Amino acid sequence: MQVNHHIAQLPAGYLFAEVARRVREYEAREPALPVIRMGIGDVPGPLAPAVARAFADAALGMGTPEGFRGYGPEGGYPFLIDQILRYDYEARDVRLERDEVFISDGAKTDTAALQELFSRDARIAVTDPVYPVYVDTNAMAGRLGSYDDGRWSNLVTLPCTFDNGFVPVLPRERVDVLYLCYPNNPTGTVLSKVQLKQIVDWAREHEVLIIYDAAYKAFIQNPDIPSTIYEVPGAKEVAIECCSYSKTAGFTGVRCAWTVIPRELKGRLPSGVQVALNPLWRRRLGSKVNGVSFPVQQAAAAVYSPEGTAQVQDCIRQYQENARLLLEAIAGTGLMTAGGVHAPYVWLKTPGGMSGWDFFDYLLETASVVGTPGEGFGNSGAGCFRLTAFSTREHTLEASRRIVHALKKL
Ligand code: PLP
Repeated sequence: MQVNHHIAQLPAGYLFAEVARRVREYEAREPALPVIRMGIGDVPGPLAPAVARAFADAALGMGTPEGFRGYGPEGGYPFLIDQILRYDYEARDVRLERDEVFISDGAKTDTAALQELFSRDARIAVTDPVYPVYVDTNAMAGRLGSYDDGRWSNLVTLPCTFDNGFVPVLPRERVDVLYLCYPNNPTGTVLSKVQLKQIVDWAREHEVLIIYDAAYKAFIQNPDIPSTIYEVPGAKEVAIECCSYSKTAGFTGVRCAWTVIPRELKGRLPSGVQVALNPLWRRRLGSKVNGVSFPVQQAAAAVYSPEGTAQVQDCIRQYQENARLLLEAIAGTGLMTAGGVHAPYVWLKTPGGMSGWDFFDYLLETASVVGTPGEGFGNSGAGCFRLTAFSTREHTLEASRRIVHALKKL
């Protein structure tokens, strides 16, 4: 058997494994202070009580003749899709039909799989730094060429840095697909509706497909910032949107998400003839997927109940407050920061031009605090560092205090 050499040639999945290795070694030396983890994007939980109850009731119901469900619709149960249409879209004046929404087990699953819709030679663009899934999955499919000196030969990267205010400069060269993630992981930054409209207009003009990852939209605090790309006129013609309950409602271990593929959205066949992507995706699902379990979809639907909404929003507010506390503490040190307002991530420029990895080691050794080096998210992340608000208030306050103390020692 010949293996897929594109997978064999991938650079090692280095970032979080390396972070874990360094923390393990440090903890083995029995440091005076317990380690506080402000690095990984997992939520501390627990699930909202209304959600957990719906999940449990549906699971117990499966043990009864009335409550049992076998295979569900591969694109998701209408009872969940209708909640999404109403609360995630109609509430923002966006009208979608049931068959434009596909329930799945994760935004990672979908952002990874959507590239199956692209031709083998589609040219891919990503922002840099970037959530690595978009790059890795296209690399595995053989679209990105060779990886030399930390760069893919056939990938277009759009730097998003402190210097350009984290707004990607659109490429002059031809691209077929652009992946966007807003609110952004890892920088925590957002785009205004005007900025997003410029990208949508460019995509329409040049027939570029946008994959819009809105996994963190629940953190947006300002109604003027688009919570869905479809708030931008014309976006339905060019954009697929991926959303998730992971960060909204603590579903990282439960697994539920959705993807929108509007009927208007089209690509071209080799003949030049236009073809709608929505039926192609449904066709693909029919062959590859048997849907998300009934109890999980019941749990997701409970996020929209009055009780569930209040509990989930309360939890988001706690993370938002954690991010504010982090930002407030770091602001006093003079370090440059981004994000942390409409996203659970605070992005900072390391002091004195340190690399992200050197700053990682320094914070670990001096403060027993773990963050994530920006280098792990792409070349434009060099010299930057990510802290997350997915923690308790106590840990956030303690980590902030320790970070400020460590910075003073430099
Ligand atoms: N998209 C982004 C930008 C993320 O940061 C993450 C998780 O960290 C995901 C998607 C994964 O979402 P899910 O848990 O729904 O697979």
